[in-house]
Amino acid sequence: MNPESLTPLADLDLTDEERMVRDVVRKVVAAEIQPRAIELDETEGFPWPQMQALSRQGLMGLLTPEADGGQGARHLLYVAVVEEIARACAATALVYFTNTHGQLPLLFAGTSEQKRRYLPRLASGEWLGAIAITEPDHGSDVAHLRTRAERVAGGYVLDGEKIFITTGDKADLLTVFARTGPDPGARGISAFLVEKGTPGLVVVRTERKMGVRGSSTAALRFDRCFVAEAQRLGEENQAFPLLMRVFDVTRLSTAAQAVGIAQGAYDIALAYSLERRQFGQRIYDFQAVQFRLANMLTEITAGRLLLYQAARLADQGRRFTAEASMAKLWCSEMAGRVTNEAVQTLGGYGYIRDYGVERMMRDAKITQIYDGTNDIQRLIIARQVLVAASGGS
Ligand SMILES: Cc1cc2nc3c(=O)[nH]c(=O)nc-3n(C[C@H](O)[C@H](O)[C@H](O)COP(=O)(O)OP(=O)(O)OC[C@H]3O[C@@H](n4cnc5c(N)ncnc54)[C@H](O)[C@@H]3O)c2cc1C
Repeated sequence: MNPESLTPLADLDLTDEERMVRDVVRKVVAAEIQPRAIELDETEGFPWPQMQALSRQGLMGLLTPEADGGQGARHLLYVAVVEEIARACAATALVYFTNTHGQLPLLFAGTSEQKRRYLPRLASGEWLGAIAITEPDHGSDVAHLRTRAERVAGGYVLDGEKIFITTGDKADLLTVFARTGPDPGARGISAFLVEKGTPGLVVVRTERKMGVRGSSTAALRFDRCFVAEAQRLGEENQAFPLLMRVFDVTRLSTAAQAVGIAQGAYDIALAYSLERRQFGQRIYDFQAVQFRLANMLTEITAGRLLLYQAARLADQGRRFTAEASMAKLWCSEMAGRVTNEAVQTLGGYGYIRDYGVERMMRDAKITQIYDGTNDIQRLIIARQVLVAASGGS
């Protein structure tokens, strides 16, 4: 069953060339990602072969301009690609888009020298990137993060702790947000490019998780970690607006991941319902099951529309903060509902690991938490409402 036959949105919006890229991704997913998804979750490994396969197809730097070694694709194609990967394996999608997130601060604030040095490596998949923001005592309250970057001759010395950093133990390049100014709030934050192996950058542990178990989530310590001045991204104390700009895009990634997880769970539930027989007929022939699947598909389609609206605004260079938050909020909650219904559709088999839908249900949960919890998305949307009401853009 090709879901596009029922939800043709993706095909309507992509150009012929973009559809070809999406078809290449589908082939990589079928050959390299789907067959490994259950084992990756079971072993809590890392999707190295999957990243290599995506790298070989030139997919690791979709949003990075061609001049910087990427593909210069539209956000619309990028979210379609994330969705396709997440449809088979949410953990692989997470590692994949975290590498994209590692490129964003450079794209938005890097000097030509910083871009030249790092972007081609990240965009080709030779290096993996990651972003370190969250701290033990400051998660949602990003503006009050406490990792210090003390000015010294020739650069800065970083001291502090970061937690929950995706790919943090493996990344070749981390963008680290740290406090340089005396102000307690958003005005005193700067961003730094820290290479793997920099003395004083310590991997404290990796976490054992409920879902996206085939990605790594690291606690890091910066212990008198020297970073040269040339590694600062943008102006000193000016990184908070940069971070907010990065978050607009990362929320597209999470929303796309959520749509992909939901679509993957729906695909399995539909196929199962057409095969499984009870009371002498296919379970699909029970109206209760048909209605459940109809609701799931409607929800997924609505989520995809929200996501595409936000991606289109991004492609037009317009403000999309509220739309990205709405997409992230709605798609992640939708993925929670749809994966739950998928497990229900498979009955007892849905609860068994070999069928994949319980993994998708666990994976869906994280999309409601990271890139700003859904409570924070509601705050952002409400703030944007006020901005618009007071005549802002
Ligand atoms: C698997 C995983 C991967 C991650 N990857 C990364 C990464 O790569 N880089 C990175 O920097 N971080 C990463 N994170 C961190 C993630 O972004 C944070 O966990 C998230 O932002 C929430 O912060 P917190 O966990 O401290 O929760 P808290 O901020 O302590 O929130 C706890 C609860 O309080 C609610 N709450 C908090 N403030 C408010 C408020 N003002 N109004 C209403 N409710 C509120 C929250 O919604 C939540 O329900 C990751 C986390 C996980 C679990």
